[in-house]
Amino acid sequence: MNLMMPGNTTRQWHDMNLTAPRDRPPLDRAIILRILSYFRPYSGYALLTLGAIGLNSLLGLIPPLLVRDVFDRSLPAGDVRLLAMLVGGMILASLGSGLAFVGQNYLSTLVGQRVMFDLRNQMYARLLSMSLRFFTDTKTGEIMSRVTNDVNGVQQVVTVTMVMTATNALTVASTLFMMFTINWRLALVSVAVLPLFILPTRRVGKLRQRIAGEAQAKLAELNNLMHETLSIGGALLVKAFTRQRDEQARFVARNRELMRLQIRQSLVGRWFFMWLSLFGTVGPALIYGYGAWLAIRGDLTPGSIVSFVALLGRLYSPASMLLNVQVELFTSLALFRRIFEYLDLPVEIRDRPGASELPELRGRIAFEDVFFTYRPDAAPALAGVSFAIEPGQLAALVGPSGAGKTTITYLLPRLYDVTAGRITIDGHDIRDVTLESLARQIGMVTQETFLFHGTVRENLLYAKPDATGEELAAACRAAHIDDVIAALPEGYDTVVGERGYRLSGGEKQRLAIARVILKNPRILILDEATSALDSESERLVQEALERLMVGRTSLVIAHRLSTILKADVILVLDGGRVVERGTHAELLARGGLYARLYAQQFGAAAPAERPAASEDESGGSTAAPSPSVA
Ligand code: ADP
Repeated sequence: MNLMMPGNTTRQWHDMNLTAPRDRPPLDRAIILRILSYFRPYSGYALLTLGAIGLNSLLGLIPPLLVRDVFDRSLPAGDVRLLAMLVGGMILASLGSGLAFVGQNYLSTLVGQRVMFDLRNQMYARLLSMSLRFFTDTKTGEIMSRVTNDVNGVQQVVTVTMVMTATNALTVASTLFMMFTINWRLALVSVAVLPLFILPTRRVGKLRQRIAGEAQAKLAELNNLMHETLSIGGALLVKAFTRQRDEQARFVARNRELMRLQIRQSLVGRWFFMWLSLFGTVGPALIYGYGAWLAIRGDLTPGSIVSFVALLGRLYSPASMLLNVQVELFTSLALFRRIFEYLDLPVEIRDRPGASELPELRGRIAFEDVFFTYRPDAAPALAGVSFAIEPGQLAALVGPSGAGKTTITYLLPRLYDVTAGRITIDGHDIRDVTLESLARQIGMVTQETFLFHGTVRENLLYAKPDATGEELAAACRAAHIDDVIAALPEGYDTVVGERGYRLSGGEKQRLAIARVILKNPRILILDEATSALDSESERLVQEALERLMVGRTSLVIAHRLSTILKADVILVLDGGRVVERGTHAELLARGGLYARLYAQQFGAAAPAERPAASEDESGGSTAAPSPSVA
């Protein structure tokens, strides 16, 4: 389900595409003007293309005309010189139209590719500005497909729909004009048999298109299935549950449907094509018959008959393609609609007009009666949350899974906006300041550290592109990751990330901490790991975090007892509300939810550093993402 497009889900778009010829969307001016606006910057090229198309179809008329003189003038007179000239003319004309075709091809490719270039850039820019909600609600494969496949379809629109339409229209018009000039009666006969040829072409065209649409949808399903099961996480899941056989069966079933559709698609026109090739000889036969009869009566020269048959070859298939053009047109429109739909996605979180820069901060954070709902139909994840954290304080968020801890950490950097209430930093409503200045002041260390495919250095510089080597080294020392980097095969130049050198969980976390140290934000958001690190790793991470927190206002989803004990204030959440607040001692004395959670997690014989204080750890397989990251 896609929240961003109410009523226009991906599924429906697919269906619309399939049924385009039957269930036509209105052909509105707005969308056509909008499409044209993308071509406007290249209108010079477009005009040149049109010129080349015109030249191509005019030059194409010359050989059929010269044929007439071969039969009517050079043959009866035995004029070899004239014959040579006529044949030479035919060859030259063909050469000329060939060249014009090359030019037209080149120009239309240029136009198409440039429009695609612009569209892809626009789409990517729009996607980057989408809120987290969009990415949690939309499949990555779907996003990729829009940016690549849909945009690639534009070239097809340019070369097939636009160029072919112009070519066919010009060819048909010039050929008809020529035919009527030569002999109007013969021309009428040729035109009269056109429907025999055109009607079946249209039917087969539509049928083929429908099957092609279905096949494409099947292919997309197949791709999605592969995308899911062949990604690292998916592959892990399949293996962990030994589901290979079921996945294979699922794949085979889809694959078989695809094969059936594609077989149908290529076979659907077989009778029609037989008819077509039959007609390719029947049409000329009629012309020969009627033409010869006219010639016998002295109304037509034999050369004109030959010329006519040659012209006939330029009439039928362009005419039938021209009649199919509206199918192409609607497919193209559907394509552009899909593209525009993405370009028009509302940017949910953006700078307010006149948003100011967040000044140097002291770091006081306040939530004032904050409500938040992920989906309109869901229960609120936060319902009236109020609290304040003074500059430099450490606040620990504690509570059962699903209480709203992660949501709080999402709202502060405006990954989502509050549904009601407000959040202030040093008294500034975070919606009144620029996103960039807000983001600069907040550092996040999440449970899952994402490293780009790139070197250690590049990953660190992401936080501060102009950091010096010394700054890097100092940050890595403070994060206790310097020794690890030094021991890597290529030190700072070792490639890490999805397909690079695999760092352990603790090492990745320390690298993330180094990244935040470099960024040096005033406010720190921390989601302590629930997955147990070995004690050495744990100690290093803990030390690094402690250094990181010094002098910053920190909001921590706490799982470690040491963090909780050190917190200036513990906020106990349950069901989207702050149900208790205070220090460890105060809350224990109170004997409420906190005391219960504490007893559950750390019990009487509490191991000092068990990751706990929430129920997040219960259940779940290794392959399942941890709750706060999901
Ligand atoms: P915690 O971090 O305390 O485990 P969360 O803040 O992640 O809890 O979640 C609070 C509530 O919001 C939960 O009921 C959860 O199911 C819901 N929730 C979290 N993320 C989403 C989402 N993307 N869409 C819909 N509901 C969500």
